Amino acid sequence: MPHPTIATTQAALATGEVTTQQLVERYLAAIGEQRYLNIYVEVYADGALDQAKEQDGRRRAGSKLGRLAGVVISIKDVICYAGHGVSAGSAILEEFVSPYTATALQRLIDEDAIVIGRTNCDEFAMGSGNENSHYGPTRNAADPARVPGGSSGGAAVSVQAGTCLLSVGSSTGGSVRQPASFCGLYGFKPTYGRISRHGLIAYGSSFDQIGLLAHDPADIALGLEIIAGADNYDATAPNRPIPLYSKAKSEGPKRLAYFGDLLEGEGADPAIRTATRQAIEGYRAAGHIVESVTFDYFDYVVPTYYVLTTAEASSNLSRYDGMRYGYRSPEADTLEETYRMSRSEGFGTEVQRRILLGTFVLSSGYYDAFYGKAQRARRVIQEQLRGILADHDFILMPVSPSLPWYVGEQLDDPVANYLADILHRAG
Ligand code: GLN
Repeated sequence: MPHPTIATTQAALATGEVTTQQLVERYLAAIGEQRYLNIYVEVYADGALDQAKEQDGRRRAGSKLGRLAGVVISIKDVICYAGHGVSAGSAILEEFVSPYTATALQRLIDEDAIVIGRTNCDEFAMGSGNENSHYGPTRNAADPARVPGGSSGGAAVSVQAGTCLLSVGSSTGGSVRQPASFCGLYGFKPTYGRISRHGLIAYGSSFDQIGLLAHDPADIALGLEIIAGADNYDATAPNRPIPLYSKAKSEGPKRLAYFGDLLEGEGADPAIRTATRQAIEGYRAAGHIVESVTFDYFDYVVPTYYVLTTAEASSNLSRYDGMRYGYRSPEADTLEETYRMSRSEGFGTEVQRRILLGTFVLSSGYYDAFYGKAQRARRVIQEQLRGILADHDFILMPVSPSLPWYVGEQLDDPVANYLADILHRAG
């Protein structure tokens, strides 16, 4: 059976084949039946049902409905929603309630999207398998023994398991595309600045972006059209025109680049290399130009990313000090103990590892050798990619070199986990 889309859902609502309330009830039932997947940190059953009834009332009265009327969405547990908890998958923010709503989310709600709940993720979005969450791992609905990818793992499974139509995730270095790929969905990570970060809990601010996951690219296009654009609360979201993404048509043959070395080498799983070759042939057969290009810096993208993002994380996460936000250790007596114990008890292992690494690469004496050098490497990588994109419309590549691994398999090997990021790091 084809997956429902925004268009098919709204058509069914328009003919009265289904009411918004019935739709929400079905989604809530799907959540209830699949609790073992651990998709949601919190389900907003009452809020979603109230919104649904209110929309059904408006529909009956013939009053105006937004472009996302009847569209049930989920939000990653890093997106602020006024009056609702937001914890970034962390014990340190477990009790925190957001005083305001993220700009992107507000724009979706203004168009009548219905928020069904907040989804599980790696703590502070640090991870590739959704195994670093304070709430335990989310499982892949296609094979619950395997990870769904991360860090927006709950976001991906929320769509994969039929508990919503569209999910709002976030990406610092692959956290939308990789879980989408592991769960058989489309994942869209926009260019930096396209979507306001206001209300997105920060990990690495010069990389962080909100992104969307869905079964249907047309649904993502409409969502993007609604949330993209300038915002007074985010100076990095420029005031550029927003194309009508939902009406966009691809015309004429395109020029695609791919990294030939990747297909020849042993770095990627054979199944992934075969699928990539098939995709290349498919695009060629459809009349597009697909050519191999070289990229010289595969060995540098992962280290560069982990130096820069851990540096930024160490700074961003310094605000969780047991004073201003979230958890405070009940055992602490002095100010220093409060900082130390709250952070040691509140942050999980991976987050602590990254804060330590980030603090180290920024420390005096090491700053130039690590942070400064990584900044320069970032520039060099970016310039080579810009060069490729100057001659090509797209770069075609698999999202991940490996298939979804088993839950628990990589827990003792953080470096293996970091290396799994290699293919999306350039984005
Ligand atoms: N796997 C990457 C990491 O662990 C991706 C994180 C992200 O995009 N939020 O940092």
